[in-house]
Amino acid sequence: MAPLLSKSKYLTGLQCPKYLWTQIHEPERIPEPDAVTQYIFDQGHVVGEYAKKLFPGGIDIPHDGFMDNIATTKKLLAERKPLFEAGILYGNIYSRLDILNPVGQDEWDIIEIKSGTSVKEVYIDDVSFQKFCCEKAGLKIRTCKLGFINKQYVKNGEIDPRELFILEDVSTQVEEISGGMEDRVSDLLEVISNKACPEMTIGQHCLAPYECPLRAECWGFLPENSVFDLRGGKTKQFPLYEQGILSIKDIPDDIPLSRQQQIQKECVMTGNVHVEKEEIRQFLNKLEYPLYYLDFETVGPAIPIYDGTRPYQDMPFQFSLHVVETDGSEPVHHSFLAEGIEDPSPQILRDLQRLLGSEGSIIAYNSGFEEGVLNELVEAFPEYMSWLGGILTRVVDLLFPFTNFHYYSASQKDTASLKKVLPAVTGRDYEEMGIGAGMDASIAYGRIMYGNATEDEIAKVRADLLKYCKLDTEGMIWVVDKLKELSD
Ligand code: SF4
Repeated sequence: MAPLLSKSKYLTGLQCPKYLWTQIHEPERIPEPDAVTQYIFDQGHVVGEYAKKLFPGGIDIPHDGFMDNIATTKKLLAERKPLFEAGILYGNIYSRLDILNPVGQDEWDIIEIKSGTSVKEVYIDDVSFQKFCCEKAGLKIRTCKLGFINKQYVKNGEIDPRELFILEDVSTQVEEISGGMEDRVSDLLEVISNKACPEMTIGQHCLAPYECPLRAECWGFLPENSVFDLRGGKTKQFPLYEQGILSIKDIPDDIPLSRQQQIQKECVMTGNVHVEKEEIRQFLNKLEYPLYYLDFETVGPAIPIYDGTRPYQDMPFQFSLHVVETDGSEPVHHSFLAEGIEDPSPQILRDLQRLLGSEGSIIAYNSGFEEGVLNELVEAFPEYMSWLGGILTRVVDLLFPFTNFHYYSASQKDTASLKKVLPAVTGRDYEEMGIGAGMDASIAYGRIMYGNATEDEIAKVRADLLKYCKLDTEGMIWVVDKLKELSD
C-alpha cells in the first residue's frame, strides 16, 4: 500500500519535505518528544475532551484501530449526529476530525479544537486539509470553525465549556488558501512516494510553525558559538549564514553589531569573560539587607483547576526563600511545597507575609515572573493588596547585570538564564538533578498531584522539587557573592 498523507503529515510536509519524508521512511531518526512537548500534547488531549461537551449527544468514535475508525465513521455519517474523531479516507489522503457537526439536511460543520488561545496560520492549513479531504470523500461542508481557549475565562465552580471555548468561523481564511490545495497535496504525495530523501538546507522553516525535531541532526554541522547564538540577532543570523559566515568569530569587522553582539564576538575570539566592574558595583549598591532570595515554581494548566483562576494562569505550588540578614551571615532557608489538592495560594500568601518582613531587598531572577505571580495571587485575595504594594517596591532583578552584559561568558551563548549564568559565574550547575528546569518541575508536580503516581514516585518527585527550587535561590546567593568578588 502506498504511504498515506494524513493531516499531521500534510502539515509536516508544508513545513519541510525532508521532515515529512523522514517521518515516513526513516522514523527512527526522529527523536521521541521531550517531556515538555509531550506535556503540550497531553494538554491538547484534555482540552479536546472538554470541547466534546459543547456538542451533547455526540458520538465518540474509537480511533485506536485505523480501518475500524474509518468504517465506523462511514456508518455513523447517516445518523446525522455530532461525531468526534471521525476518520475520513479518500484515495491516499486521510484526515481525522475533532468534531464533525451535522447542519440541515445534508451539510456538516468542521470544528477543530486547539489548546492555544488564538487563531494561527498553521491551524488554517490544518482545517483546510480536513475540508479538502471531506469534500473529496463527498461530504458537503458548510463552515469551518476553530475552537480555542478563552484566556479571559475565570473558573467559578464547574467548568462551563461554552465559556471556556471561543468558536471562530474561519471559513473565509480556509477558502482563501484552498486554491492551491490540489497541487500541494499532489506534491507531498510525490515526496512520500520517492525512494530518496529530498535535499533541504536549514532555514526559518526549521523553527516555525514548530521547532523541527530533526534540528539537532540538520544543524549539527554548525560550529560552537555559531552565528545562530548571537544575542537578539534574529534578523542577522540567516543573512550571515547565507554569506557563508558560520562562527561568531568569523563575522567581518565591517558588519555592524550591537554592543552585546560585539561583546559576544570578543569573548568568543579571546576566550575571556567580559566584566564591567563599575556597573556591577552600582547594581550591588542597590541591594539592602536583609536580602530575601525568592523563587516560585508554578503550574499553568489550560483548564483552570481552582476557582478564581484563568486558563494558563501561572499558579504557584512551591517557593524557596533564602534570607541573608547581614553581609557575611549564614543564609536561612524557608520553603513551601503544596500538599493535597486544595488551592495552596492562601497558605503561600500567609507564609510570605510572615517571612518577607518589612524591609530589605527581595531578589528574584527574572523578577517580572515573580511579580506577575504575586499580582495574580493578590487579584484573587485582595486583602493582601496593600502588603503587596510594599513588597513590589523592594524587588530587585538579578537578571539585570546579565541581560545588560555587565557580565558575559561565551559559555552562556545567547542566553542570560540562571541555568547558564550559574555555571558560567560560579562553576556550579544543575547537572545530575532529578528536576533541572522550571517546566520539568511544573510537569512533575502535575503528574504527582493529578496523575496516578505511586507513593514512592510522589516521595521522589517531592524530594527532587525541594532540591531544585532550593538550588534556584541558593544559586542566586552564589551569583551575588561572585559578583561582589568580581567588582572588587
Ligand atoms: S531541521 Fe530543518 S531542514 Fe532539517 S528536516 Fe527539519 S525543517 Fe527540514
